[in-house]
Amino acid sequence: MLGNLYDFPVAGVGDPARPASPRHVGATTLIDRWILERLNDVIRDCRSAYEEFAFHKVYHTLNQFCAVDLSSLYIDITKDRMYCDAPDSPRRRVTQAVMHEIFDALCRLLAPILAFTAEEAWRYSEAGGSVHLQEFPEPQRRHDKASAQVAELLRLRGVIGQAIERARREKLIGNTLEAAVVLHSDSDVTEKIDKEELEEFFILSDLTIHQAKEASASVMKTLYQKCARCWRHRPAVGSSKTHPDLCDRCESVVEANKRHVTDEITE
Ligand SMILES: [Zn+2]
Repeated sequence: MLGNLYDFPVAGVGDPARPASPRHVGATTLIDRWILERLNDVIRDCRSAYEEFAFHKVYHTLNQFCAVDLSSLYIDITKDRMYCDAPDSPRRRVTQAVMHEIFDALCRLLAPILAFTAEEAWRYSEAGGSVHLQEFPEPQRRHDKASAQVAELLRLRGVIGQAIERARREKLIGNTLEAAVVLHSDSDVTEKIDKEELEEFFILSDLTIHQAKEASASVMKTLYQKCARCWRHRPAVGSSKTHPDLCDRCESVVEANKRHVTDEITE
């Protein structure tokens, strides 16, 4: 998370009472709202475990949160926007604001049991002062529907995962980003969230969704070409004259970076 926050403009650096809030940065996606709900549960559980001096519960709760919710879901799913979106894109900045909030809470909650590491991370983040002089974060956010919706999507992710595994065994595809997935969804969540966000959630290049009574998925090899920058197979790859090897998102990021560099040189 420190790596992902290296270029995040923190509002109120040196003022730990006023960290940048995702709510001030822009619109969050489902996965951002979900991880903040999970963080809220973690804060609540850790505070009550500390009150009972049940340190093993704190350790277990934080370890579970880091290994499952953060590493294998949130950070994995947001990797593409963190590395490939324009540095200042609202979607990337929102993710950083969310990560900043998680980082801040994790350091404070870990401080009593991982004293030196929590302090080292806290100092590195330039939050100011010592983590051992901070208070525990307060649980606050009331739950909206994010957790229920993500549970539905994770169930569908399991269905897609099985279909992809079969396709891989049959040598139809090599890696997941080569798959064109047709998902028959039995959940209305897939109607409420736009396709691009679902492709990001499932980490897929090419997804078609039909509503159905029963959930199932089929996989073929996508006809789209691979973008040389983000490795996703996208319909726009090959259509640009200047950058035939890039998708539309990556082309606009590369062009904007180029303008930025030219401006700096002429200045
Ligand atoms: Zn791309």
